[in-house]
Amino acid sequence: MTKKKNHIDINDLPIGILLVKRDGIVISHSPSVLLLTEKPIPEGCKIDSLFPNLPFKTSKKERMYTFEHSTHGKQYTYRANVKPVERDNFLVWIENITLSSKVERINRILVKLSAIGLESTLPEDFYRLMQEELKTLFDAQNIYLVLFDKSRQRLSLAYVSGTHTINADYPSGNTFALWVAHRGQGVILDQQQMNKLKSKYNLAFYGPPALCWMAVPLKTQNDIVGVLAVQNYQKPNAYDHNDLKVLEFVSAQLTYMIIQKERENELKVAKSKSEEADKLKSAFLANMSHEIRTPMNAILGFSELITRETISPEKKKVYADYITSNGRLLLTLIDDIIELSKIEAGIYTIRRQPLELDSLFNELHQFAINEKKRQKQNILIARDMGNNSGITHILADGERLKQVLLNLLSNAIKFTSQGSVTMGYRIPNNATIEFFVSDTGIGIPKSLQEKIFERFRQADETAQRLYGGAGLGLAISKRLVELMGGRIWVESEPNKGSCFRFTLPLILPNTKNTSHIRPNPKSDYNKITGKTILIVEDNEANINYLSDVVTAAGAKRLTATLGDDALEMVSREHIDVILLDIQLHDTNGLQLIKKFKEKRPHVPIIIQSAYTPNEYIDKALAQGAYGYLTKPIKANELLDLLSKLF
Ligand code: ADP
Repeated sequence: MTKKKNHIDINDLPIGILLVKRDGIVISHSPSVLLLTEKPIPEGCKIDSLFPNLPFKTSKKERMYTFEHSTHGKQYTYRANVKPVERDNFLVWIENITLSSKVERINRILVKLSAIGLESTLPEDFYRLMQEELKTLFDAQNIYLVLFDKSRQRLSLAYVSGTHTINADYPSGNTFALWVAHRGQGVILDQQQMNKLKSKYNLAFYGPPALCWMAVPLKTQNDIVGVLAVQNYQKPNAYDHNDLKVLEFVSAQLTYMIIQKERENELKVAKSKSEEADKLKSAFLANMSHEIRTPMNAILGFSELITRETISPEKKKVYADYITSNGRLLLTLIDDIIELSKIEAGIYTIRRQPLELDSLFNELHQFAINEKKRQKQNILIARDMGNNSGITHILADGERLKQVLLNLLSNAIKFTSQGSVTMGYRIPNNATIEFFVSDTGIGIPKSLQEKIFERFRQADETAQRLYGGAGLGLAISKRLVELMGGRIWVESEPNKGSCFRFTLPLILPNTKNTSHIRPNPKSDYNKITGKTILIVEDNEANINYLSDVVTAAGAKRLTATLGDDALEMVSREHIDVILLDIQLHDTNGLQLIKKFKEKRPHVPIIIQSAYTPNEYIDKALAQGAYGYLTKPIKANELLDLLSKLF
């Protein structure tokens, strides 16, 4: 920009000279002083009325003062040299040192900033101290530093210092900061310019509008990491190109420090994550070892005791119960681990079938009553079915849904020794069903409310923890809920209670499908009496177990350990149902079903399997199998299925 010929910039003319008396009265002055005072100097005027901030004092020696004075609405820094001359007068030499003093200050600040960068351990401390220093450089009510996330979609406010606060995290879409980042260059804007830009680019300004806004991008060689902005709410021309240069200079140094700090921080986060993982691994091993050893000890100990001849039959029964319940516990643990691995391996598919909500909750209620007895908790079990939406059936994977609810219920009962456990559901909108299990138990601190859904995490990870469990139930529940298309979370307050909630997509079955999904009438095993059941199984213990179960219900049983034997028996004997282990050593289960069906198309086949992928079971069902049971098979499950069949 070229200057007008006679235009004199106050900054280009840094010197004004005055001759004053001992009492400060101005005797004469150079014309340039008028540029500083911006008004004529009347006769008898005192120097301190012209420069109120100049602490004018006389002495025998030459003295130097630094003071602030504003001209054209802008603050400058001056140095006054006061020198005694003849006749008891003083020569006052005033020099604009704004630039040189700023350069000095900048140097000082940069040295300080690098010291802060080295010393402060938290980025927040670094930003706060940095801001305090910057405030000494600029006439600003508000200074803020925004950082972009990697995608530049969001701005996070590293620090705001000043009279107005701004939300800490906001979308960067249409902000002045992003505009400056795109521009790649610093800018000074007054309110009018800001309004123009605002309507031109549809920009948003967070916080109250400034009268003067100055901002520079924080640039690395290849990227822009953020924006540093200072704003003044009082003076429209608070900043000029010199300020901008200073801000640009400072921001270059800052960018370097910020990146250093971020790297340090990333390292710290990575370190603490790996320490956390280490801790988790140890906690998990300690847990698992405890969880496996405890029931194992009981099983081995009582198995030994039970064989002693001196033991009374009553005691034997008690010991046998201990062995069974501890065996179950172990099985649950193993099931949980396998379950989680299966989900994580992506083996699970969700099978949605019509499900009657009432019958589901009847079953859950019964479970909760038994569970509370088992855990010896004196609490109330309640149901709360929320709104009357008129919906009685939904389409859902009943087994998985039940699994999640049972898990939440047994946790709720485990962690509640007084009060109640309530289960229920509500339909908040026509696309969602929300299930919940709430309790009045020990509650979960806020800081752990997300963590407990991670595998092997427990709120109490100390060695002395009071409650058993391997920390897998919620991890499984979370994955199952997500697999079913929902979301799970907890609302809780320590010592008041917890409420676990999860949503599922609300899908309604065709009404004609719902008729066959009545709840099982209370088991009546009369229908099994007299029927002939062929057990095809190659494990001796399982053969004995299944035989005992069906004969106790009055059925006749035949057994075969090989596929060929079974086929021969099917041709020879009258058989009402085949109970088939789908994983016999010598035979392909699917082919065996096919051959059974060729020989006796009307004899139903129930598959029993230990760990079989869903697709395999689907194929077996497609070959004509009636249903399937998962090992270990519970007696009542088997008998229920047989009653239903007959
Ligand atoms: P586990 O119960 O086997 O430890 P979970 O994954 O089911 O494992 O639960 C993880 C942790 O979450 C528990 O150890 C417990 O600290 C906390 N938790 C779960 N449910 C509740 C509840 N209803 N009340 C209080 N804490 C709970």
